[in-house]
Order: sequence, then C-alpha cells, then structure tokens
Amino acid sequence: RWLSSRQRQPRTAIGDRLLRATARRLAEALRPGDRLARIGSDEFAVFVPRLEALADASQLARRLRAAMRSPFKVADREIAMTISTGIAIGRPSAEEMLHAAGLALDAARRGGGDGFEVFTAMMRAAALRRFDTEVDLQRALERDEFVLHYQPIFDLERLEPVHFEALVRWQHPVRGLIPPSLFVPLAEQNGTIRQLGRWAIHSACRQLSAWREQYPDRSGLGVSVNVSGVQLHQNSELLRDIEQALHTYHLDPGCLMLEITETVLMKGNGDPDLLEAIRALGVRIAVDDFGVGYSSFRYLRNLPVDTVKIDRSFIAASESPNRDPWTVMQMIIEFCTRLDLEVIAEGIEQPDHPRRLRDLGCRHGQGFLLSPPFSAAGATGLFARSPRGLTGGPPPPLESAAE
Ligand code: C2E
Ligand code: CA
Ligand code: CA
Repeated sequence: RWLSSRQRQPRTAIGDRLLRATARRLAEALRPGDRLARIGSDEFAVFVPRLEALADASQLARRLRAAMRSPFKVADREIAMTISTGIAIGRPSAEEMLHAAGLALDAARRGGGDGFEVFTAMMRAAALRRFDTEVDLQRALERDEFVLHYQPIFDLERLEPVHFEALVRWQHPVRGLIPPSLFVPLAEQNGTIRQLGRWAIHSACRQLSAWREQYPDRSGLGVSVNVSGVQLHQNSELLRDIEQALHTYHLDPGCLMLEITETVLMKGNGDPDLLEAIRALGVRIAVDDFGVGYSSFRYLRNLPVDTVKIDRSFIAASESPNRDPWTVMQMIIEFCTRLDLEVIAEGIEQPDHPRRLRDLGCRHGQGFLLSPPFSAAGATGLFARSPRGLTGGPPPPLESAAE
C-alpha cells in the first residue's frame, strides 16, 4: 500500500518552488484517507490504507502521472517533469513496504522512467544478484581478475597486424571467462568503470611496450583502448591516466588510440575540451561502431576524431541481396577519406571482404576472418605467424593460436 514516487531531480535554485508545486499536484490526485510524505530529495511516498484491488494502485499511479503531465510554470519558465512510481502491496512492516516500493521504483526508472512497476519477488532476487555482482566487481579489481585480450587490426594491403584493440574480460574464479557485455554496463552504472578503465589503459600500454621491446622492428605497432562515456565525465582524471601510462611505459602518444562509440560522442558526453586535450597530447581518437547510432555525416565533420571504425553491420548488410550492397560502405569510406579521417572496417568475416574493401580504398580492417581476439600470449604468437612484409595471398590460419 505504499507508492513511492520520484521526479527527475530539480537542479536549479527554483527547485524548492518546483517541489512545493509538485507536492500540491500529487496531493490533489489523492483520495480522502491517502497520505502523502516527502521521503527524499525528489522522492515522495503515498500511503494507501485501504486497497480493494491491485487495479486501484495502478489507477492511482496513472492519476499521479497525469497530474504531472502539464508543464510547471515557475519563475517565468515552463518546466516539464516526469514521474516514476513503484508500488508495493501488503508487506509486513513499514520498512519492508518502503524497501519493496523502492525496488519497484528502481525497476520503473530502468524501464525509461515516466511509468510504474509493481513489486515482485523476482525484483528482490534480481537486486540481490546485482548487488552480488557489484560487490564482486570491486573485489575482482582488487584481486586482479580482469584480463585484456587483443584483436589485431590488419593493414589490408600487406595483410599484417599493425595495431591491437584491447578487449576486457573477467576471469571469474567460479564462472569462468565472462565477456564484457555482461559486466561493463554494470561497471558503468556503479562507477567501477573508472578504475577498470584506468586499469585497461595501463595494462594495454604495458603490453604494447613489452611487444615493442620484444619486436623492435615493429615500431609502428599501436594499441586501442575502449573508453566508456562515464570516463569522459571524469574531467582531467582520464587525461592524467593517459599521460601517466605513456610516461611509465615510455610510449609515444601516437601509438595509443581511444575508441569511443558514436552514440557517446554524439550525446556530447562530458567536457568537450577533454577530447581536444587528449588529442593535443598526440593520442588518437576513434569513433567506434560508426553507423549504428545517428550515423550522421554532418556530425562526423565536427567530431574531434582521427579515425572512424565502420560498424560491422555494414559489411554484414553487404551479404544481403540488395541492389548494390557495397554502395553505402563505399560512400562512408569516400566521405571519411575526404575529411582526412582514417577508416577501419569492422566485422571482416568473408574471404572476399579484404579485397573488396581494399578496392574501395579502405586501408585497415578487423574481423574474425583475419583474427579473433587473443590473450596477450596468443597475440604475441601472431607475430611469429605473420612475418614482416607478408604480402598478398590469404592470411595465415590463426585458429590454432586461440586459447
Ligand atoms: P567493440 O568495441 O565493438 O569490440 C569489438 C567486438 O566485436 C569484440 O567483442 C570482438 O570480439 C567482436 N568482433 C570482432 N571481430 C568480429 C567479427 O568479425 N564478427 C563479429 N560478429 N564480431 C567481431 P567483445 O570482446 O565481446 O567486446 C564487446 C564490447 O565490449 C566491445 O565492443 C566494447 O564496446 C566493450 N568493451 C570491451 N572492452 C572494453 C573496455 O576495456 N572498456 C569498455 N568501456 N568497453 C569495453
Ligand atoms: Ca571498440
Ligand atoms: Ca566496434
């Protein structure tokens, strides 16, 4: 019988007036006997003593949302607000009621906000699992359980690896090797990504420096690190981490590349000067997965980047029976080349892809045909398999190097 609601947080000095206006509207939406309280900075609770059916609660949640629908007029401004609601029914104590409503509220917010959710036992189980993984992530960092795998980016003319993309995995003591898709989003949510990101930059630079020492004739070798949008909000922390890693491992900045997804770059995440400051060091920045987001050429011109990694969906689409499947790819490559942007094609899987891309003027590529990601040791083995100056012909079979 608790409904716990949260507005999007007011950030300005007019916040107080906005809160009062919100409380008034919420109170007007209630029935006699319902009680309203403010329980957090932007959080209200409604206590409904007599509830005939669940439908009553969802109806009330809809009424609360309707009450917020028209924008607020405060200090000559119109402010639009949304409301998320969590509903809990019949819990044994007030604490439990609030806790359950809070979990339902979190679920409503994760669903995009402006909706409501009813507490279920599954929410508690999911919350416990999330908590487990959160605690685990922190512990994993302390126990050094993360590893980087490396996928080579090939020069498509000479068919030899010239650069490596570092891809993080979690070597879990019980669950085995966990792919980034299962923990990076969580690490972004709970902030662990900051430490994880710093660790990735350092580890990748250390590995590159080891390779360069071991293979001095491959002085042009570089490494890419994926950077999450959260890290761009760190102000100068990211810049400091990069400077420190380059200094520690005696690397020239030109051999380091940061991969940032198109979606993050377009959203204008973080401080725009930060990316410029990173580039001013000489470190390169790549738009990752280009083409899956807004894929706007107009934006591409203004982004502070040096390289464009064309998302693998474009190559995949070339397999479909379109009129001219490679046209879009060709357009992107030409456009980038005109803007002086380096192009890397992702998702090279078919034997004819390297030649076709070369013909379109794309110099670099990455994909399972050329090589999957390897552990650092496996990637080192790649150098032995791919002697310098390897020209023409299909790339050597690399599967045997997989761990
Ligand atoms: P991404 O940056 O797009 O990384 C490339 C992903 O595509 C890798 O998956 C790689 O194994 C896969 N891939 C490579 N070639 C092919 C191909 O020919 N075909 C297909 N179908 N897939 C291919 P992985 O390693 O599972 O990484 C997934 C994502 O996790 C990455 O996507 C990246 O966004 C994120 N990620 C990985 N490492 C880090 C990290 O250190 N920090 C952050 N923030 N994100 C990371
Ligand atoms: Ca990437
Ligand atoms: Ca990518």
